[in-house]
Amino acid sequence: MNHQFFETLLLSDTELTEAESAMLQDHLQTCRACRQLSDALKDVDNLFHNSAFVAPRPGFTHRWEDALAADIKKRQRTQVFSITFIGLVSIAALFLLLGFTILPIFISPISVLWAELFGIVTWFSAIEGIINLLSTLFQAVFSLVPISMWVALTFAFLGLCAVWVVAFKQVTSPRRLSI
Ligand SMILES: [Zn+2]
Repeated sequence: MNHQFFETLLLSDTELTEAESAMLQDHLQTCRACRQLSDALKDVDNLFHNSAFVAPRPGFTHRWEDALAADIKKRQRTQVFSITFIGLVSIAALFLLLGFTILPIFISPISVLWAELFGIVTWFSAIEGIINLLSTLFQAVFSLVPISMWVALTFAFLGLCAVWVVAFKQVTSPRRLSI
């Protein structure tokens, strides 16, 4: 009989026959290796049967719930912190951008003022240019026409007005309308 046969008997879940049991006991008397295996199996069996069920300490559920609640609270705090941090960084970035945009005004207010003034001056000089042009044209026309001609033209205009008024009165007079 080899060791394998007795190892199979030792590890077997089923009940051994009387013959098998007798053969195994005989072999264990003489074979040290199989005896060691048998003892080890007995120790494991004893360990499983004699170990008391280790129940959790009282209040385990409450402690677990408290730990879970604390964990959730911690995560929420972390989230709030993260959101606040991101928000602050975003605001800081915006202010930085704004700062870079309006920084020249603070650095050199005079130069910005000069630029504005230059714009206004340019605008006014454009208007002034138009006025100058018109006045120059007027002066040119006026200087081309002699004073006597102006007087003559004025009298002619006044005469025309008088003629028009007389004619209007003649046309709209009641006597003329009654006919
Ligand atoms: Zn053996």
